[in-house]
Amino acid sequence: LFRWLSLTSILFMNFTIMAQEKTIDQKVDSLLKLMTLEEKVGQMNQYNGFWDITGPAPKEGNAAEKYEHLKKGWVGSMLNVTGTEEVRKLQKMVVEESRLGIPLIFGFDVIHGYKTLAPIPLAEAASWDMEAIEKSARIAADEASAVGLNWTFAPMVDISHDARWGRVMEGGGEDPYLGAQIAKARVNGFQGTDLSQNNTIAACAKHFAAYGFAEAGKEYNTVDIGTSTLYNMVFPPFKAAVEADVKTVMNGFNLLNGVPVTGDKNLQRNILKGTWGFDGFIISDWSSIGEMVPHGYAADLKHAAELGALAGSDMDMESYAYVTHLADNVREGKVDESILDEAVGRILRVKFELGLFDDPYRYCNPEREKSRLYHEDHQSGVLEMAQKSMVLLKNEGGLLPLKKNQPKIAVIGELANDNNSPLGSWRLGSDDNTAVTVLDGLKKYTQNLTYAKGPKVFNEDANFLNEVQVNETDRSGISEAVELAQSSDVVIMVLGEHGFQSGEARSRTKLGLPGLQLDLLKAVHKVNKNIVLVLMNGRPLTINWEAENVPAILEAWQLGSQTGNAIAKVLFGDYNPSGKLPMTFPRSVGQVPIYYNHYSTGRANEVPIVFWTHYSDEKNEPLFPFGYGLSYTTFGYSDLAIDSSNQSKIKVSATITNTGKVAGEEVVQLYIHDKVASVTRPVKELKGFQKIGLAPNESKRVEFVLTNKELGFYNHQYEFVVEPGEFGVMVGTSSGEGLIDSFVKK
Ligand code: BGC
Repeated sequence: LFRWLSLTSILFMNFTIMAQEKTIDQKVDSLLKLMTLEEKVGQMNQYNGFWDITGPAPKEGNAAEKYEHLKKGWVGSMLNVTGTEEVRKLQKMVVEESRLGIPLIFGFDVIHGYKTLAPIPLAEAASWDMEAIEKSARIAADEASAVGLNWTFAPMVDISHDARWGRVMEGGGEDPYLGAQIAKARVNGFQGTDLSQNNTIAACAKHFAAYGFAEAGKEYNTVDIGTSTLYNMVFPPFKAAVEADVKTVMNGFNLLNGVPVTGDKNLQRNILKGTWGFDGFIISDWSSIGEMVPHGYAADLKHAAELGALAGSDMDMESYAYVTHLADNVREGKVDESILDEAVGRILRVKFELGLFDDPYRYCNPEREKSRLYHEDHQSGVLEMAQKSMVLLKNEGGLLPLKKNQPKIAVIGELANDNNSPLGSWRLGSDDNTAVTVLDGLKKYTQNLTYAKGPKVFNEDANFLNEVQVNETDRSGISEAVELAQSSDVVIMVLGEHGFQSGEARSRTKLGLPGLQLDLLKAVHKVNKNIVLVLMNGRPLTINWEAENVPAILEAWQLGSQTGNAIAKVLFGDYNPSGKLPMTFPRSVGQVPIYYNHYSTGRANEVPIVFWTHYSDEKNEPLFPFGYGLSYTTFGYSDLAIDSSNQSKIKVSATITNTGKVAGEEVVQLYIHDKVASVTRPVKELKGFQKIGLAPNESKRVEFVLTNKELGFYNHQYEFVVEPGEFGVMVGTSSGEGLIDSFVKK
């Protein structure tokens, strides 16, 4: 007791002096000097708090052991502990019982909201509205911070070209430029302008790097990509997050060109911490330090701890590698203690910045917890976000918007009456069954509707841990739906994926509508062609028959808490859809990976057609290109002009006119093509976009400025270069359509 009291008072004095005079760096240095080797390792150790689903195989007494370690100061962070009471309990234990009382940092996957859920991130990306995305992250941070959390493992900024990969739902889509803007918006939203406020939380850009390029879209799979793809496609959103002062970065499960990214010194130490000057800390992915053993990169867990630390992985999430072996590695001279000092310094700095040393319980206010969760401002915020996230894919004959006095509407499909699935995946903090259903949303507009579920599609117990099972055989329900459709004027069919068919560990080899949904659609179509198809999905789908035969298609993804209200508003014209696809929709799985910013092959033309780059049984073109999306109005593009007189600020402008009958918003997109370069450049690259609102007949001149930042690229020597020559320019409504011109960069 005496020892504890004297240490506490030394520390107290120390902290008091710190608080008065020292900078955070000085405080960190002073604290480091007081720490034993084990305490340093402790700061680098993160434990999971969901005791019952711990690690690969829950051990006897696992929870008890964790409590012991917490008291000894052998734990720097907890994940999956939420609620002001729970957080306070563990924080108190550590602050009062461990020798130095260094507060824990509490992390959690707050991916698209805590209780109030915004649309899944891929859907938000479809808004191309950075202000709205930032606001959505702000809402998530506000609620998460109210339950004691001070750190989210978001945003996921992995670029992916592969819709088979289930985690595309968590990201910003396929494009590095759009992805970079989104990364910045999300980091700013979570972290706010002042991290020491109790409603802001540290963000985490993940998964560094290239996790989205898993071979064949198979989860956790090998990644093998070249320098150009790594530097020009994968890195930009991470770099943008670092520039936005993201406090943490998570590495990943994948091998990258033969080395697990968790053990990749070049990636973490040289590039991220070195060249980019990232001054936060790197957290491993769940058990990814330990997974270097099955990867065949580390001989055993001790070796994995050594390699992880040397490579710059500062904190070990739940693989027990550091807490078990890192101190021995230091004692045996395999890891220099300065490596630990660096890692711990980074971790402590973030804790200081969060204000946890001033008041370790600052996030544990039960009053705030009560008042912020499901706050009405948050509901209206996510409703707005949901409206902006939808993409109108087709609207033939002006079937949409529906008239408010529409005679008779049939609503069909299991998902139309589902209040759980539209919440999407990655919502560990929220309550199940809390989404407004499409049916309930529509009922606010009209009572003149009837509902048929159609055949059963998904199993009831599907969730984050239980695989989704799809009914392929039981056709009952189809005939009832057909009858209903026959006697209705308009049919709204809500079809798509289950919310847990995408997300982590949810790769798919088929990208069509699961189960008997297409059969149901075809059967309904036989009796009534007036179909509005509302799609709910966490990834691009191959909806060829649907696109060909159904007159109106609205891509609604998984829109979160306010799903039904948002969809009803769009269907009845109270909100004019303005979203654009952040990922290409393929025609068939065989086309995947498919993305707009691909390279030209040598077989582009001038050889007999059979030798062109093509498939014998499928078109080259996607079903819907990146950047595509319609509106209830139409937009005309004219007068593209390029002013390259100032070579460091090349101006590109065009006039956009609302040529339809209602007001609407358009995302005007700028693409370039560096025609000849020392490393071949993609046929098109997004380099600017602006979302503008136009009244009917109104025109606006939109101007973009291209600087070296937009015109340059990374070459094989990892240098950022701008090469002179001709650049193609396109300003358009999607990556597939626009006005074209060019200029010469001298
Ligand atoms: C995921 C991470 C996540 C972590 C903690 C891992 O399985 O890959 O993205 O942050 O779990 O839940």
